[in-house]
Amino acid sequence: MTLKYADRMSRMKASDIRELLKLTQDPTIISFAGGLPAEELFPVEELMEISQKVLEDLGGKALQYSTTEGHIPLRKAIAKRMKKLGIDMTEENILITNGSQQGLEFSGKLFINEGDVVLCERPTYLGAIDAFKAYGPEFIEIQTDDNGMIMEDLERVLKETKKVKFIYLVPDFQNPSGRTWNRERRKRLVELANQYDVAIIEDNPYGELRFEGELLPAVAHYDTTGNVVFLGTLSKIFCPGLRIGWIAAKKEVIEKYVLIKQSSDLQTNTLSQMQASMFLEEYDIEAHIEKIKNLYRTRRDLMMKTMKEEFPEGVSWTYPEGGLFIWVVLPEHMNGRELAIKALEQNVAYVPGGAFFANGGQENTFRLNFSSMDEARIVEGIKRLGKVLREEI
Ligand code: PMP
Repeated sequence: MTLKYADRMSRMKASDIRELLKLTQDPTIISFAGGLPAEELFPVEELMEISQKVLEDLGGKALQYSTTEGHIPLRKAIAKRMKKLGIDMTEENILITNGSQQGLEFSGKLFINEGDVVLCERPTYLGAIDAFKAYGPEFIEIQTDDNGMIMEDLERVLKETKKVKFIYLVPDFQNPSGRTWNRERRKRLVELANQYDVAIIEDNPYGELRFEGELLPAVAHYDTTGNVVFLGTLSKIFCPGLRIGWIAAKKEVIEKYVLIKQSSDLQTNTLSQMQASMFLEEYDIEAHIEKIKNLYRTRRDLMMKTMKEEFPEGVSWTYPEGGLFIWVVLPEHMNGRELAIKALEQNVAYVPGGAFFANGGQENTFRLNFSSMDEARIVEGIKRLGKVLREEI
């Protein structure tokens, strides 16, 4: 018997990237491929205390069903912290999700009819492309430079294109490029979205992980009409395994997302929410973020210094002021996928860049993660990668 799957399944393919990431579980491989936070900084001791305390204080409540919107103290703590990014909201504007990846999936479900247009950066986050794809949109990629989308290109596309539902972006230390939007473009983006009456999905997992320079206000800070949906997460500033993210938007939009959440999984894990909430309320998250930033800054600097020494002329890369990633551009004739196989023969992994282009594309690129390998492995891995590059260029 052949099972008759829904049409949408034909759009959902196992990517070769996922296969590659599976390989990198092998401890003998120096992996710059995943987007993993540094595990050695996870607050394990604190979570042992917290787990005990949550169960002592709240008993069965911590193991019970709870509301779809999420644990109120957690929503309050998150609303309070968002002020740091210039967002003025209350818990009523927040829905707790199972990571921000769920916020992406729900945004696809909320906005996209088949054939609608989604505008995104070129390149953009692979996980968002995959989440939206299930709903059958057409993607139009907007050209970017070191300061975000090029506004003239965005305006031209908005003018020419009907059926644009939303503009998706990662404004800070973007995955994969490591680039950050400047203030002017954030503001202008919101003006254009208002003018053409389209929503903005701001996916902002890295905004607080700035190693130098001034913390920038979120795009949602510039919102005047409530058409910005902000997706946040504790994955990169606390720990991803708890799966705590959130959607922040005006109340009537949150109500729609709540309907989707209800029919999807009822609610986010009660115990995780209570643990996260206690960490935010009773422990020093700001000191914890400082620790993360200090380690990542050291690793970024070391990786960039070694790249400078080891990578041949003709290869260029971005300079991320925060986050987890560096984006490498090879000469046009080179192919990041083919090179990845050669790098793997040397037990080094990265993610080829082609998959980060919604409509396929620029294969002479790759993404390097600098947060998860220790200093010795960074140097050794970049040396090996440099050798492969010098041989192939
Ligand atoms: N958006 C972006 C840009 C990301 O890089 C990630 C994590 N790789 C996510 C969303 C999803 O993160 P999480 O579901 O852990 O919050």
